[in-house]
Amino acid sequence: MSRFVLLLTGTFLLMSESFSGAGLVSGFRIWHGPDRTRVVFDLTNDVPYEVSVSELPNQLNLDLPDLVLMTPLTFDRSVSGPIESIKTEQSESGGLRVVFGLNEELEYQVFMLAPREPYAFRLVVDLLAKIEPRPTVPLPEFESNAPYLVVIDPGHGGDDPGAIGASGKYEKKVALQISQRLAELINSQGKMRAVLTRTNDYYISLRDRVGFAMRERADVFLSIHADAAKRKGASGASVFILSEKGAGSELGKWLAQRENAADLAGGVKIGAHEPDLQKTLLDMGIDWKVKESRKLAGALLSQLGESGPLHSADVESAAFVVLKAVDIPAVLVETGFMTNPSEEKKLNDRLFQEKIAGALYRGLLAYCNTDVRCPNRGIQNQHYRVAEGDSLALISARMKVSVDALRRVNQLQSDRLVPGQVLTIP
Ligand SMILES: [Zn+2]
Repeated sequence: MSRFVLLLTGTFLLMSESFSGAGLVSGFRIWHGPDRTRVVFDLTNDVPYEVSVSELPNQLNLDLPDLVLMTPLTFDRSVSGPIESIKTEQSESGGLRVVFGLNEELEYQVFMLAPREPYAFRLVVDLLAKIEPRPTVPLPEFESNAPYLVVIDPGHGGDDPGAIGASGKYEKKVALQISQRLAELINSQGKMRAVLTRTNDYYISLRDRVGFAMRERADVFLSIHADAAKRKGASGASVFILSEKGAGSELGKWLAQRENAADLAGGVKIGAHEPDLQKTLLDMGIDWKVKESRKLAGALLSQLGESGPLHSADVESAAFVVLKAVDIPAVLVETGFMTNPSEEKKLNDRLFQEKIAGALYRGLLAYCNTDVRCPNRGIQNQHYRVAEGDSLALISARMKVSVDALRRVNQLQSDRLVPGQVLTIP
């Protein structure tokens, strides 16, 4: 310990001769999710590292003999999960020790990721949660008991921002917000039930997303995204199903490449244990899955088309990893283009997000009505149960009906709504 010089917060280390050739820490982030808490160091070089643990107190020590820290590692305790403290010590001869103080003993994984735009080398420390994460609904008051389960998968997250918009907005955020609005809508109406593969800003591998849907015995799987294109004018929504033979179109080919690369940006350890995806109930077979996925995609597309512009009027197909290996109807929705400045703005607008969520909800309901596995078949889309926080403007966006029509048909004397109140949708 004596050969280390303790770096006090706010102290900057001056570069000296002995540090030439050493790598530098150029960035630092923590992403806290239900199955792991991830620490990411951006590094200028690929450097050796060693990990050790001390049991009392619970400490994880990371020794990096060829690394120099230029600025202190600051972090927000409210999003650091089990990490209570981080101390750094720099030795005089070069070499950095990072000590993580943890509130419990945890399994860990440490690995280096090769450079990938926009990152240089990244050293990842994953602290793995002990218990199997449970699916969560966005808000408890929107809980539904309906047996028909829709797993909604907000694309990207954590170190993987997805498409970056014209004004710098992230696809990962738009995808999460639309997914949460859709889940709330589904659960508040009680005809189906929805859970999300991720509920905050952290990364989940593509295979883990699929594994989650299978563990939960989902009836349908919906992955939510927002597009990027080289052409700024490209706009509108599209819906994709899995193609085993490769992409049906150039757009599909390009998109699948981009979306499948999410694991590289999000950071997945090569060769890490992945859930066994082959052992699924394949009694229904791939033909059934493709046929049903196409039906579901068609129902979603037709509702999206009534609510806004479509990029492609037909169901597209491409080889998306996230649609493979689930043997249930599975689709990927590109809700619009982040790279189109006016669409980027809309995709970040609350009411527009509600419009898309509403279109997806109505599409899901239409599909459920045709699915023999759906216990609530035959339900019409004529009633809306008011939930906490609802307004006529919001219901109008979701259900694609004017505020005036809602007032008229329901003979509303005022615009004040009461949770639990059932409105007729004209
Ligand atoms: Zn995406």
